[in-house]
Amino acid sequence: MTVNSSSRHLRVAIIGGGPGGLATAIALSKIPNVSVNIYEQATVLREVGAGISIGSNSWNVLELLGVADTLTSGHPTWVILNMNGRSGEELDRREKPRNLEQRAPVRTQRTKLQSALLAHVKPGVIHLSKRLTRMVDKGKEGVELRFEDGSVVTADLVVGADGIRSVVRDTAWPNYEIKFTGTTIWRALLPWDNVKHLDPRFGITGWWHTPTTHVYFSPVGEGLWEIASRAWQDPATHSANKKSWGVPVDNAHVESHFTEYLPAIREALARVPPGGWREFAAFAGPELSQLTAWDNKVVLVGDSSHALSGAFGSGAGFAMEDGWILAQALAYWKNDTGKALPLFDTIRLPYYSRMYAHLSSEADKRAAKLKGLGNPTFDERVRNKIITDGGKDMSWIYKNDIGAIQYNGSKEAHSSPVRCIR
Ligand SMILES: Cc1cc2nc3c(=O)[nH]c(=O)nc-3n(C[C@H](O)[C@H](O)[C@H](O)COP(=O)(O)OP(=O)(O)OC[C@H]3O[C@@H](n4cnc5c(N)ncnc54)[C@H](O)[C@@H]3O)c2cc1C
Repeated sequence: MTVNSSSRHLRVAIIGGGPGGLATAIALSKIPNVSVNIYEQATVLREVGAGISIGSNSWNVLELLGVADTLTSGHPTWVILNMNGRSGEELDRREKPRNLEQRAPVRTQRTKLQSALLAHVKPGVIHLSKRLTRMVDKGKEGVELRFEDGSVVTADLVVGADGIRSVVRDTAWPNYEIKFTGTTIWRALLPWDNVKHLDPRFGITGWWHTPTTHVYFSPVGEGLWEIASRAWQDPATHSANKKSWGVPVDNAHVESHFTEYLPAIREALARVPPGGWREFAAFAGPELSQLTAWDNKVVLVGDSSHALSGAFGSGAGFAMEDGWILAQALAYWKNDTGKALPLFDTIRLPYYSRMYAHLSSEADKRAAKLKGLGNPTFDERVRNKIITDGGKDMSWIYKNDIGAIQYNGSKEAHSSPVRCIR
């Protein structure tokens, strides 16, 4: 990118140091006349959770950020299985075409992605123990940010990368509301050696299902193995205590949701060391009609902008793509936020809209199929969870190449011959 000395100087405050905040800081540090600071509430930057999938879309943006070569650990996920958790029947086996010119899709530890991104954030950019509590629109002077420790800063542009429970979003979009979806997730990492003799299929990334629960197993590299298990309960009766995010829970509580599973699966769950489980309650919220607010002084990236509760298993990739596109939009419009933020909206809003539409149509399809079965058996309900008829083409997500986005200045077109954003 050519250095553009005529661009306006911009003070950017990024709230949150997750994948979205870190990627945004890296991307912004590559464009001229921007000073970037990340304000993160944690006292130490530490990822909770277990593993994360890095597919083509995430690799593409990591390449653009210059981070891909730093992320070296992970288990290749060329094959993915879906199984009936009670009978062990294989319901679906997907083999991804191996392309030696591309990086292998991997399941890696979340901490590995975080440290790879952190290695590319310039020193002095991250400020820890900075929990944003208040945000005030100061008109032409910018946005005033107030933190729990009493400190105050002013920025020309605030990037809300503060996750699904975003204070930035809740301040600038005061009517927005997220709700418990009914799904609770328990995640743990344990040594592969502790479980590898239980079933040969445990070495392959895969989901084991009952009608309302699943257990996901995958190696994540470096001798570690991940369990991410989910159970759905009616949110109308189970929402009262659901605030948890990364909270330790005891083994008996987790195991009580998976008593119908094959003995080897139950044994694997029992081998999680005490204190090893973390609980996450999944929340979701409706689609936003704009990702920018306060006269183009506030923008949302990552989970704060699309509260889809981990649907598609690629939210870190989306968050990093947002950060990269935001930086390209600013560079293109020489840091004029009045033009760059609408451009960001033009590119990212339809993408998220398509995700919401996809989830809604899939839910309708499953419900219709189930209705057609009359009084379905356990196995039929399990089979109905898996799309074995090929499903829809999902390359728009998993093969998305954000660097190939093209823009011709119109509201809708993203694929003109003019390649302005790169
Ligand atoms: C069960 C599950 C499995 C998933 N699997 C995958 C996967 O395989 N691949 C994938 O790509 N994605 C996956 N995701 C999604 C992914 O984890 C998220 O989409 C991603 O972490 C979003 O990044 P983010 O930076 O937007 O937000 P977050 O990662 O939530 O980061 C937000 C940051 O903001 C900080 N913060 C919050 N409030 C404040 C405040 N007031 N002041 C200052 N700092 C604040 C937080 O401490 C945190 O560090 C999964 C999600 C779930 C729930």
